[in-house]
Amino acid sequence: MPRETEQTQSALVEAEMARRLLRRIRDLMEREQAVQARLDQFVDAIASNMQANVASIYLLRRGGSLELCATEGLDEEAVHKTQLKSGEGLVGQVAFNARPLNLAEAADHPMFAYKPETGEDKFHSFLGVPILRGGRTMGVLVIQSQKARIFTEIEVEALQTVAMILAEIAIEDERAAGAKGHLKGIRLHPDRPETFSGLAFSEGLVQGLAHLHFQPIASGNLIADDTRAEEDRIEDGIAKLRANVDIMVSGEAANLTRASREIFEAYRMFAYDRKWVDRLREAVHAGLTAEAAVERVRNEHRARLMKARDPYLRARLHDLEDLANRMLRILGGELTESGNVDIPDGAVVFARDLGPAELLDYDQTKLAGIVLEEGSPSSHTSIICKAIGLPLIGRAEGVLDQIESGDTVLIDGEMGDVHIRPLPEQIAGFTMRMGVRGEMGKLYASQRDAKTITKDEQTLSLQLNAGLMVDLPHVESSGADGIGLFRTEFQFMVSDFMPRLQEQTDLYRKAIEAAGDKPVTFRTLDLGGDKILPYSDPVPEENPALGWRSIRIALDRPGLMRYQLRALVAAGAGKLLRVMFPMVATVDEFIRAKELMMIEVRRASKMGEDMPRKIEIGVMLETPALAWSVMAICDHADFVSVGANDLMQFFFAADRDNARVSDRYDPLSPAALSMMKFIADGCRRSNVPVSVCGEMAGRPLEAICLIALGFHTLSMSVTGIGPVKSAALALDAQKLRDYIEPLIRVDSRLSSVREEVKLFCMKEGIPI
Ligand code: PEP
Ligand code: MG
Repeated sequence: MPRETEQTQSALVEAEMARRLLRRIRDLMEREQAVQARLDQFVDAIASNMQANVASIYLLRRGGSLELCATEGLDEEAVHKTQLKSGEGLVGQVAFNARPLNLAEAADHPMFAYKPETGEDKFHSFLGVPILRGGRTMGVLVIQSQKARIFTEIEVEALQTVAMILAEIAIEDERAAGAKGHLKGIRLHPDRPETFSGLAFSEGLVQGLAHLHFQPIASGNLIADDTRAEEDRIEDGIAKLRANVDIMVSGEAANLTRASREIFEAYRMFAYDRKWVDRLREAVHAGLTAEAAVERVRNEHRARLMKARDPYLRARLHDLEDLANRMLRILGGELTESGNVDIPDGAVVFARDLGPAELLDYDQTKLAGIVLEEGSPSSHTSIICKAIGLPLIGRAEGVLDQIESGDTVLIDGEMGDVHIRPLPEQIAGFTMRMGVRGEMGKLYASQRDAKTITKDEQTLSLQLNAGLMVDLPHVESSGADGIGLFRTEFQFMVSDFMPRLQEQTDLYRKAIEAAGDKPVTFRTLDLGGDKILPYSDPVPEENPALGWRSIRIALDRPGLMRYQLRALVAAGAGKLLRVMFPMVATVDEFIRAKELMMIEVRRASKMGEDMPRKIEIGVMLETPALAWSVMAICDHADFVSVGANDLMQFFFAADRDNARVSDRYDPLSPAALSMMKFIADGCRRSNVPVSVCGEMAGRPLEAICLIALGFHTLSMSVTGIGPVKSAALALDAQKLRDYIEPLIRVDSRLSSVREEVKLFCMKEGIPI
């Protein structure tokens, strides 16, 4: 027979073998089983249907070792005895890399580890595939044969398919059988209470039900009854997915941020990617349902994603994973072409990361919180969560490996903790805290219209940090005394194109109108670092936070800032216009920036335009260098606003966006507080108003320290206003000043005054 015909024939035989194996497995699935019985039947079915002498299942124990749990062909005595450490032997390699390993001669592989009790020395070829579920490696499925040969692609695919089915139904068996169904010491699905510590990117306490952004599919829905029908379904799904992605790319959500637009573009690329679509078609053709095909391809990608170190690659694989998720929702009829995902009431969505558009896909009335393995506090998802009052925990590393949809969860957006499957006592304690928080909420609401005056009669101004239209109603609802920081770059970041003069003017005018007779302080464009415009090419830099950013760009290329200043002058017509410049490091930079502003003021005046009633030009104090020039800068600035986020990052040389270092240093250390005091004293002596607008101003404990040191204007996100006001009303500022001053002198040996100030609050009855 010619060689080609021979190859085609053997491929046909193997394809038939794969289908037969799937049919056999479907028959086995009809019965409910204890997990061990199920595994035994599986290895039996695999060994007898594939051309193999051995089929074995290794499952991962808590702690990471792989245990032989069922075998056909190896020595029975080795079952539940043979164990391999993570990465040990060929089986360990498969688990570690989450990829198949296909060898003609196992013993030749450098990682081969001989286990005499198994009697595997008779066998030559080895094929191991990971048992994956939701991208998590649960174990390894192995076939071996006496004949030294490489297994064919069809055989590898078939074994991978069986591994996926095995994962799903073993977990279902375990659930159905309860505690008695467990394998010895192995839990296939996580069931213990666990706590993960992350960071609270948006505050709040909620109890809810976990909803995985990437749902695993039900085991009853894996093997096709009618392959033709499934082929039609997958084609239909692909077409709908493409339509859905096309709508996304051209729709509103794509304009939200640069990131969302990039993601959507990547979706489109993948949705039309031949290889991805071919993989889906092949899997359906091999006998899987459309859902199982998507799951299989997704699992492979997700497992790879979990190993990927390169952030770019991770991001791309993440996009692909998300696309698969959309496809599953389309197949399940859950997602219409226009989006909007249905979730149970009180759902807490768990995901690796979530773009703002994905967040808005969920029914907002049912969403109770978000937990992310990644995420960043300054991402737009975080900003939107804060604006709509949705608790968000980010950087909860490893949580996706342990969470299942439907698990009860407690989201502690105060401490940054996620409690999954909590004990009743944990729930009781948490419910009490939620009650207290609810009461506090009522208290804040009742204090909303009160002026913020401390017990020793110091009048304070608590203002809002804003930047987008969604923030504007909060001026009214929170009772804030104005907008202390309007981050103008947000509008630039969420647009597809550079906002035109009129668009900029409109937004600034709306902000001024929303504040009524309260002041609004606009901060000019603070770009660079991590704030990159979708329509400009970022200049690659070694240290972007220390690089060509913010005012430095504005002074080198004044066109963009002058355009913005023009819009600000126009928006301020007839009103008070307050503008400040970010990231100033020297007095000279401020003078040059101010000159640009004056050029625009003179221009507007010459053109006979309506002018602002009054213009105040201030400076953001965000660099230690400027702190040490505070009196000099006060000669030129109408006001000073301390950008404590950046000031602290530069003071401690700790990147504010790097989770490893951002929380390492305490702004309540004597070093940092004495610098803050130096700034406040300098401004007071110069008679120049000073405020603080970094995140620390919105945290009650930090805020009262700032007040004590002489900062009477604080600007914060909306969630800070109530708690800070409540603490300030109970504060004797002079008393706290007298208490802290000796603690923060240069000879202080304390690393932080946090505990001391907490004690002070306890004695004084200050709610923090
Ligand atoms: C700051 O740095 O403290 C600040 C308020 O500005 P941003 O957080 O926008 O850098
Ligand atoms: Mg800043």
